[in-house]
Amino acid sequence: MPLVIDGELCARCGSCIGNCPNRAIVRQSDRVVITGMCCDCGVCVRYCSVGAIAMGPVKAERDSAKLCSQLKEKLRLTRGIAAMKFCDSTPEDAAVEEGPQFWCAICGDIFDGQGSPLLFTASASMCGGCANMGLGAKRVTREEFDAALEASVVGEGNLYATREPMTKNRDAFPQFSRIHRGMVIGSLEHISRPDMVLFPATPEQLTIVSTAFAFETGEIVTGYAGKSTCLMTIPAMLEANRPVFTAADHGGRMFMRLKAQELLIGFPFSLLPGLAANLDKTVYAHHAE
Ligand code: SF4
Ligand code: SF4
Repeated sequence: MPLVIDGELCARCGSCIGNCPNRAIVRQSDRVVITGMCCDCGVCVRYCSVGAIAMGPVKAERDSAKLCSQLKEKLRLTRGIAAMKFCDSTPEDAAVEEGPQFWCAICGDIFDGQGSPLLFTASASMCGGCANMGLGAKRVTREEFDAALEASVVGEGNLYATREPMTKNRDAFPQFSRIHRGMVIGSLEHISRPDMVLFPATPEQLTIVSTAFAFETGEIVTGYAGKSTCLMTIPAMLEANRPVFTAADHGGRMFMRLKAQELLIGFPFSLLPGLAANLDKTVYAHHAE
């Protein structure tokens, strides 16, 4: 918990509560307090007209490698954790994925233990999922697009009866505020300060995660089903700054090589230090001993 509120100065106006992007500030009885979900962004400081918010004595753990090992140990994860970071130039420490490749297949490699950072772009994408991830649409001709739809997406025995239901439910997800040139994707221990993480988990592990997330703030983890895996995970984490879970879709499960009992959990990185710390505080921490 990097920032703290001076209870003497605080006027309990609630301005900071409504403006915290992590929903990390809560009312407890007659006090306003900053919880462990704080990521030290400093936004609340600007909204406090009485100057009641200042740096606290304790820093949250934000080292990617340490967080990765903490999550694996505390949740007893058996698969890898994928981290994603948007970028507009090519980072020196990432190989360039030339493609054609599926984003979900890269995630599958990371879940299976291959974690070196890769730069993934719309031009390397095998499918239209790049548009679901804020990387822009892949350029294809009208004929190629129609052929792909007819081959495996619309019609009896495919994903949608017609094109109309395929496009209709896009409105259920946040729209991207900007389009990025690329995304570096790799194992969490290799990517410093990513934008978000994604990992396979059992329903029991999801319960432990959601309990830890709700512990101080009462916030819940919401899930999506019925659309592409990339769309059901990335926009909510990126644009709404919210954790998500999903059962993924048919293709995503196949390329990610998810096991029958596995779901996917996605977390904005800004919420990960609080999650890792709270995993020690709930009823499940005692059960695990
Ligand atoms: S996440 Fe940012 S806005 Fe929220 S409490 Fe922490 S410093 Fe303040
Ligand atoms: S904005 Fe400042 S005065 Fe208002 S509740 Fe937050 S800390 Fe207290």
